[in-house]
Amino acid sequence: MVPEGDSRPIRLAVLGSTGSIGSQTLEVAADQPDRISVVLLSARQRLEPLASAITTFRPETAVLTDPTDDDIPALVAGIPLLCGAQAQLDAISSTHPDVVVNGVTGAQGLLASLRTLEEGCTLALANKESMVMAGELMRSTAQKTGARIIPVDSEHSAIDQCLRGGNHGEVARIILTASGGPFRDSSAEEIASATPQQALENPNWEMGPKITVDSSTLMNKALEVIEAQALFDLPADRIEVVIHPESIVHSMVEFVDGSTLAQLGCPDMKVPIQYAISQPQRWPTRFKPLDLASLGSLNFRAPDLNRFPALGLAFRVLDEGGTLGAVLNAANEVAVAAFLAGKISLPRIATLVERAMDHHDNTPATRLEAILEADRAARDRVQEWIF
Ligand code: MG
Repeated sequence: MVPEGDSRPIRLAVLGSTGSIGSQTLEVAADQPDRISVVLLSARQRLEPLASAITTFRPETAVLTDPTDDDIPALVAGIPLLCGAQAQLDAISSTHPDVVVNGVTGAQGLLASLRTLEEGCTLALANKESMVMAGELMRSTAQKTGARIIPVDSEHSAIDQCLRGGNHGEVARIILTASGGPFRDSSAEEIASATPQQALENPNWEMGPKITVDSSTLMNKALEVIEAQALFDLPADRIEVVIHPESIVHSMVEFVDGSTLAQLGCPDMKVPIQYAISQPQRWPTRFKPLDLASLGSLNFRAPDLNRFPALGLAFRVLDEGGTLGAVLNAANEVAVAAFLAGKISLPRIATLVERAMDHHDNTPATRLEAILEADRAARDRVQEWIF
């Protein structure tokens, strides 16, 4: 965040810049050339799209965290291109951006989130896994340096915006909406025989493959419930989920006086991405406005935990706390990869995650080592069960 009235552009880092969130962040940056200056770009493996973004945005530094090729140029368009996960952390420190958009997928985004907070930079967080694995550590690190965590996840961005309408002590409940994914109306039998291709067809949102599978099992909503608890510091009984097939109401906050505020908009991740960078200001855009009359109706219903047991696991994590969130996340990442590789059925993802949680000896999640150890042990176990 840059103080209001300050006209210098926001120095922006985009981690995971070739993924779905990263490339949409670069679209926002391209639309706001006077307000945003991209100072750091990173990607995991894909040199070609990274090099093209380097040429367009001319950051101070770029990083390829996990190159598969030995033959990576040291300079692209005269800009240093570094390699390795450590180089990404060092680049966050050396460029010291105002805002870091973390669009990395999965547990590998955690260290970059922590480094951003240690540096006192604003973290625009799309990597929800950081909060699921290490919510307490993320919050205490932010408190120490005064860094802020602004959610990019559309539901949490909605809640963050609605919370501007009242004080924390006045919140009765937060209500996360869920599209329900491609199997919202499917029978248990149909879900059991779902193919990866069917799971990758989200009706409303364009996202990367991992999160799209998570949306089809409602594991994405489970991760978001845990993320919400960590971001907004509310007990489990004040967090609810409602299925909303149209994905127009992005989430809601009910206050103690019975008033409920909702944030609405067309499903477009560029809106919460831009808000995470611009807040507390709002910038004009060319985004498609909402046309409620042509939509006609909005629908809501309770989620079915029998067909989507993953969602129930989130509330167990909230009850038991500690490193159980890291276990849920790690087990899910391994199981989703196995499903996408055709090795297991879709319902087996939640079964394996629950089994990993049953096998876990819970410990407090205040130290990074304990979190990473829980993550590693859960991955090893689930790998073993799959093969
Ligand atoms: Mg979301």
